[in-house]
Amino acid sequence: MHKNKIWLSAPHMGGSEMKYVQEAFDSNWIAPVGLNIDCFERDLETYLGSHHVAVLNSGTAAIHLGLILLGVQAGDTVICQSMTFSASANPILYLGATPVFIDSESETWNLCPIVLEEAIVDLIAKEKKPKAILAVHLYGIPYRIDEIRTVADKYSIPILEDSAEALGSAYKGQKCGTFGDIGVFSFNGSKIITTSGGGAIITPSAALKERAIFLATQARDVAPHYQHSEIGYNYRMSNISAGIGRGQMEVLDSHISSRRRMHEFYLELFRDIEGVTVFEVPNANYFTNYWLTTILINPLVTNGITRETLRLALEEENIESRPLWKPMHLQPVFCNYTYYGSAIAQTLFNTGLCLPSGSNLTTKDCSRIKSVVLQLFRK
Ligand SMILES: *Cc1c(COP(=O)(O)O)cnc(C)c1O
Repeated sequence: MHKNKIWLSAPHMGGSEMKYVQEAFDSNWIAPVGLNIDCFERDLETYLGSHHVAVLNSGTAAIHLGLILLGVQAGDTVICQSMTFSASANPILYLGATPVFIDSESETWNLCPIVLEEAIVDLIAKEKKPKAILAVHLYGIPYRIDEIRTVADKYSIPILEDSAEALGSAYKGQKCGTFGDIGVFSFNGSKIITTSGGGAIITPSAALKERAIFLATQARDVAPHYQHSEIGYNYRMSNISAGIGRGQMEVLDSHISSRRRMHEFYLELFRDIEGVTVFEVPNANYFTNYWLTTILINPLVTNGITRETLRLALEEENIESRPLWKPMHLQPVFCNYTYYGSAIAQTLFNTGLCLPSGSNLTTKDCSRIKSVVLQLFRK
């Protein structure tokens, strides 16, 4: 019998997306300009409660422009959380800058503030003072906001906040995306809301937003002909995609509730299974969208069951799961760059698994997941 695939994190339309896309067609704004773009940006700005937002065609583009806005140039050093998706680090290389990778700490799995400071001190001594710090809220869990900000300010280094996975997450009541000197969202297909592909750059000032839009639309000077004094990019979001985004904003909070319910489902499922820990926020200051629920498996306690045993058992039932992000300093393309830290990120990668977490998973999907887990661990 063929079983439907259960995805890790599938797109989930709310219902009014087509209405806004239709409006774009009706008004013939099939372009990277139009009402949906303006409204999607306004919706995001209202949601954040402060800050300015420019929507782009990917989160990666937003990171690239963010680094440019922070003044990163060829030859500069940029600090980057090692445990992340490669899209956090690639734009550093697009600019000809040099990434330096930093280990995670075990409570948020994000940038370790202690190693961060050690690295900065060492790099300054080597006359390679970092131009920016790229910090990530992995799986929607905020990084150590206060400690990272303290270190960044102590050495006057700006933070690029990769909030691609953390739309709707918050720390001490303030929304993720607004903590960095520049922030970034992604609306790719697997993220908490999707525009099929898309991203946003979040800036503290209207002037920086205008500058981001200028660079994202080929850096055209004011002139009747095409006049350019700077290198530009073609990074603006399409008015069609922005229509999807407007519809998705109407269901963002309900998507977050659903993902948080999935997290509760897994807490319950693994409660009595020794050797499996469901990743949770460290304390009540942290609010997370639980974009993905993740677990760590200790094979010394589970009679040898590893994250790979569980992944393959799920795959057998057509259920998608995935190891945690493989740290950048272990990636063939980045392994020759400097790394500071020990083996926390590496150990997380070796023992961790991301579980199906979509906001559109059904009770039946949950039962299928549950029966695989129980069969495996009750043997
Ligand atoms: C998804 C993601 C990105 C890239 O966003 P795209 O929209 O896919 O380009 C960057 N960083 C992290 C941590 C991500 O998860």
